Amino acid sequence: MALLYKSTRGDSKYITASQAILKGIADDGGLYVPEAIPKIDFKLDEILNMDYKALAYRVLRLVLDDFTEDELKYCINGAYDEKFDTPLIAPLKETADCGVLELFHGKTIAFKDMALSILPYLLKTSARKNGEDRQIVILTATSGDTGKAALEGFADVEGTGIIVFFPQDGVSDVQKKQMVTQEGRNTCVVGIKGNFDDCQTAVKKAFTDKALKEELAAKGYVFSSANSINIGRLAPQIVYYFYAYAQMVKAGRVKLGEKINFVVPTGNFGNILAGYYAKNMGLPVDKLICASNENKVLYDFFKTGEYNARREFILTSSPSMDILISSNLERLLYHLSDAETVSEKMKLLSSEGDYGFTAMDSSFIGEYSTEAETFAIIKEVFEKEGYVLDTHTAVAYNSYKKYVSESGDNTPAVVVSTASPFKFAKDVLAAIDEKYKSIDPFEAVRTLSEVSGTPVPAPIKDIEKRPVLHDICIEKEAIEGFIKAKLI
Ligand SMILES: *Cc1c(COP(=O)(O)O)cnc(C)c1O
Repeated sequence: MALLYKSTRGDSKYITASQAILKGIADDGGLYVPEAIPKIDFKLDEILNMDYKALAYRVLRLVLDDFTEDELKYCINGAYDEKFDTPLIAPLKETADCGVLELFHGKTIAFKDMALSILPYLLKTSARKNGEDRQIVILTATSGDTGKAALEGFADVEGTGIIVFFPQDGVSDVQKKQMVTQEGRNTCVVGIKGNFDDCQTAVKKAFTDKALKEELAAKGYVFSSANSINIGRLAPQIVYYFYAYAQMVKAGRVKLGEKINFVVPTGNFGNILAGYYAKNMGLPVDKLICASNENKVLYDFFKTGEYNARREFILTSSPSMDILISSNLERLLYHLSDAETVSEKMKLLSSEGDYGFTAMDSSFIGEYSTEAETFAIIKEVFEKEGYVLDTHTAVAYNSYKKYVSESGDNTPAVVVSTASPFKFAKDVLAAIDEKYKSIDPFEAVRTLSEVSGTPVPAPIKDIEKRPVLHDICIEKEAIEGFIKAKLI
């Protein structure tokens, strides 16, 4: 029986996985969810012998079940190849406290590569399967990492174009430089005078604007999304939870079949939601610890049942988690209630800025780390273990230690590491030693290499010398007008 997708907000049309990937977001503004989360059809011990690609196939065929074996294998082989700097794709490091799943070995050295290296293949295949021959325009709002990973994924992919909006003053210097130096005929990068939520809201609005859609259709364009609102982003992220589990078993940190906890540095709630899917597909997972930085809306939500986005937006050293409206939470709410409830809550969120929801799954634990705690744990782990955490991973690592000391729960755990420390070298160095506080951000990359004894990752080597190819900056109110002017 086919697995179908529907909107979280009640639009009653059921569509296939490939159609959901093409559309990105439902017409009623909801996100696509599988009508039921499929169960794994393999034994857990089988995953111990699978490489990343084989495992990806076994997991993805269940979730994206209208793709043929050939189609899926083509997508997987195209994505998880030498673009990654290790054949393991997502290696597990160990510290005295826990496993650390490194998801930053792709082209842009952040975890977004795990999904965005396969999304262009999934999207092109979906277009072919559904007879879509219009030019696909990818609209993307980014808090820093999605933008670059999507640009790398879609650059010069025939039949597609990509426009990325990022908060001009809300990303790290390396992140910004990575984006504005992007090559590719079909790429466009735009700075916004506003924060990530402003970018995301404007992009979501463009997606659901009927008049705009019709105008574009007449010109031969169709929108899709590379944000984690697209199910084609989410599905590939389920794979590495299984992969992490297999490595924990092989490392002897857990016995096959026993449960583990995952700790996930969270922003838009896509990564941790993939963990929830993995758990519900049959992976032995106990707690999913949702780690926030000082923008701790989710922490408060899990503690109190009130989601309250009416608060000051704080710029932190973990900018990819500086988010007050976590889009994918909507999907979790749907799985725990129904479309009517979700629709009502999302209306409240946009009109009042808050809503209540108490039917929470007890697997979820909210934790958070302050800036001071984040810096302190980077120093501590470096001094004790010689291992350098990036700022986002540090938020999670510290949240994990807080959780253990509060709960006494010593279930084996994996901290999901979402970025290379080189991407946030300046803050990481300042955490290790105050004397680096005012270091130039690009000098910091070379210095971190010396201090940590690891080479600068190729994707950002000498990045400051590359020519700037995109230098547009616009007001947040001008986003829709910009899209029109660009395409029509
Ligand atoms: C995107 C990102 C996050 C947040 O992930 P979500 O899926 O949005 O919750 C955390 N860390 C880094 C480095 C990221 O790029």
